[in-house]
Amino acid sequence: MSTSTIDHSVARSSFVQEFMHALSDRNPGETEFLQAVEECIVSLEKVVERHPEYRSAGILDRIVEPERIIQFRVTWMDDQGEVHVNRGYRVQFNGAIGPYKGGLRFHPSVNRSILKFLGFEQVFKNSLTTLPIGGGKGGSDFDPRGRSDAEIMRFCHAFMSELFRFIGPDTDVPAGDIGVGGREIGYLFGQYRKLTNRFTGVLTGRGINWGGSLIRPEATGFGAVYFASSMLETRGRSLEGMDCLVSGSGNVAQYTTEKVLDLGGRVITMSDSTGYIHDPNGIDRNKLQWIMDLKNNRRGRIAEYAEAHSGVTYHDHDLSAGSSPLWRIPAEAAFPSATQNEIDGAAAQVMVDNGVICVSEGANMPTMPEGQHCFIKENVLYGPGKAANAGGVAVSALEMAQGSQRMYWSREEVDRHLKDIMGRIHKASLEAAADYGVAGNYLHGANIAGFRKVADAMMDQGII
Ligand code: NDP
Repeated sequence: MSTSTIDHSVARSSFVQEFMHALSDRNPGETEFLQAVEECIVSLEKVVERHPEYRSAGILDRIVEPERIIQFRVTWMDDQGEVHVNRGYRVQFNGAIGPYKGGLRFHPSVNRSILKFLGFEQVFKNSLTTLPIGGGKGGSDFDPRGRSDAEIMRFCHAFMSELFRFIGPDTDVPAGDIGVGGREIGYLFGQYRKLTNRFTGVLTGRGINWGGSLIRPEATGFGAVYFASSMLETRGRSLEGMDCLVSGSGNVAQYTTEKVLDLGGRVITMSDSTGYIHDPNGIDRNKLQWIMDLKNNRRGRIAEYAEAHSGVTYHDHDLSAGSSPLWRIPAEAAFPSATQNEIDGAAAQVMVDNGVICVSEGANMPTMPEGQHCFIKENVLYGPGKAANAGGVAVSALEMAQGSQRMYWSREEVDRHLKDIMGRIHKASLEAAADYGVAGNYLHGANIAGFRKVADAMMDQGII
C-alpha cells in the first residue's frame, strides 16, 4: 500500500496538463474524447507513479490511441426514392483483454470524437466487469427519428454491408446504444448472416428466439440500480421510499425505472430530447408500461405522457442551452440515463442543495467535470457510468458465452450473474479508491481498477 494520494481539486498537476496538451494537439477539436481522457488521467497519474514500468512501456500514450478506426460511406434510399449518404464508423479501441465489444449509436450528433470518447470509456468498463472483452464503439450520424420501419431496415442493411468485413465473434462484437435497439440489431444481424452465410454471435442484444439472452434489454438499467443500492448500503441506506430523478425514456431509463420500483423507490421524472415530465405521484408499473409502448412501439414524444395522465407537468428543454431543469426537482437519488454532458456544475449544486445523496449514471459521461467535482466535494455517492452502467455489456458477454455453448440460462440465473457482477464492480472500485488514498471516490476507483487489468495485459503482450 502506497502513501500516494490523488488530488481531486479542480487544479490539474503539471503531469496532467502536459499529457492533455500533447493529446489535444494530436486530436484537435475532439472535445468529448479529450474530456473523457482527462477525467481518467487525473486518476491514473498516481498509478503510473507507483508503477514506473507502465511509463517506460508507454502504456498511457498507447491506451489513449485507438488500435484502429474504420470509417465508411453508408448510402440508402428513403421511401420517396431520395438517396441519402451517411457516415458509418467503428472504433476498435483496445483489444488487449478480448475481442472489441461496445455498442453502435445512430444519432445525428455522432462523430469521431463522440465515438472515441465512448470507445475509450468502454475499455475501462469492460475490464471492470472482469469478463474477457476489449473495448470498441461505433455508429453513424443517421437520424432514425421520423423514419419508417422500411427506411430503418434499408439503412441497417446498408450499414452492415460495409461493417461486416471488420467484425466477427472473435474479433469485434457490436451491440446497441442510442438509436439502436432490438429492431435495429435484428436488421443488422439479418444482413450479416446473409452476407457471410454464418449464424454466429457477432452482435449482442439479439432476439430471444435467435441467440439473445434473457435480461439483456433490462441489464444496463437494472445494473445501474444495483450499483446505487450497493453505494447506499455503505451508508446504511436503501432506495426504499426514495424519490428518484430519471432522465431519458429509452432502454436504460425504462429498466432503471422498473428496478427502482422493484426496490421500493419512486421515479418522478423522465425525459427525451425535446422535454421532460414531472409526475409527483410517481411513475407506477402501469404508467411505465404506457411509456414503453409510447417509446418502443408508437415512437412518440414524452410530452404525450402529460396529456394522458393527470397531475403531471411537461416542459420543453433545450439541452444545447445548458442542463435540463429536470435536475432542479427535489429528490434523493438521480439516474441520468439519456446522453453525455447532461449535468453541469450548476445543476449538480442544485441537486445537492435539494437533497440528492446518490447519483448512479446509466448514461455514458452524463455529468460534466464541474458536476463530478461538485458531487465528490459534497460527499454524494457518485457512481460514474463506466462502473454503474457496465451491466449491459456484462450481460452481452454472458450472451456471447451462452451462444457459444448453444445453452440458454433462465431469467433468474442471468439476473443473479448481473447482480454479482455489479457487486464485484462496486467492491473493486471501492478497494482501488481506498488503496490510492481517496476512500469512497468511485470515480477514481473505477478508473484505476479498470486500468490495471488492461495495462498488465498490454505489458504481457509487448510493444505492439
Ligand atoms: P435510447 O436510444 O434507447 O434512449 C435514449 C434516450 O435519451 C431517449 O429518451 C432520447 O430521446 C434521449 N436522448 C438521446 N440523445 C439525446 C440528446 N442529445 N439530448 C437529450 N436527450 C437525448 O438509448 P439507451 O437508453 O440505450 O442509451 C442511453 C444512454 O445509456 C447513452 O448514454 C448510452 O451510451 C448509455 N448506455 C446504454 C447501454 C445500453 O445497453 N443500451 C449500455 C451502457 C450505456 P428521444 O426519444 O427524443 O430520442
